[in-house]
Amino acid sequence: MDDKQILHDLLKFHGHYCWAGVGGLRMGLTALRILGVQRTGAKALHAIIETGYNHSAGCFADGIQYATGCTLGKGNIERNPKGKLAVTLIDKKHNKAVRVAYRPASALMQKIVNAPFTRKRGLGIPPDQIPKEEQEEVVNLMWEAPEQDIMLIGPVTDREWQEEEEITRLVLCEGCGELVAESYMRVVNGKPVCMDCSGYSV
Ligand SMILES: [Zn+2]
Ligand SMILES: [Zn+2]
Repeated sequence: MDDKQILHDLLKFHGHYCWAGVGGLRMGLTALRILGVQRTGAKALHAIIETGYNHSAGCFADGIQYATGCTLGKGNIERNPKGKLAVTLIDKKHNKAVRVAYRPASALMQKIVNAPFTRKRGLGIPPDQIPKEEQEEVVNLMWEAPEQDIMLIGPVTDREWQEEEEITRLVLCEGCGELVAESYMRVVNGKPVCMDCSGYSV
């Protein structure tokens, strides 16, 4: 990979150096290329990631967000939690999708497992307390690996996309005065209130 600018930008956004974030970046970029689409700030793409909660390598998700422009804020990324470093990217305009999954060649896997960075992370040392050159070593392993050594690229498939209607109205809660999306408001004694002020749990 020649253009390192996006790698530097990702690492700055993500906040630390790690192989999983870089893996997400590479797999996101590959998914874009396979679908023949560009990263977008609009909602033309939708990503479904398979990383779960509270496990290592969750940083993969930030790489996907950065590569594709599918973000939590726009709501066009979601989890299908299976504990895997995989993404299905959907081109909503053309109703096409591709799944790209992390499937490391054993030689690369060994290099990453044996790298000082990985061993120190395994001992619970935070990434920012590991020497810079050791951080860069694992980042470069992921960034420079041939595609076939790190990922499995699935076929492009037809994927019909039904866009859910976005509720655009925001209203003020008569209890706390905070701004709330209308679909989350409740009515108590004839007054519109937020979930916190309603006393209801759902
Ligand atoms: Zn990370
Ligand atoms: Zn309230």
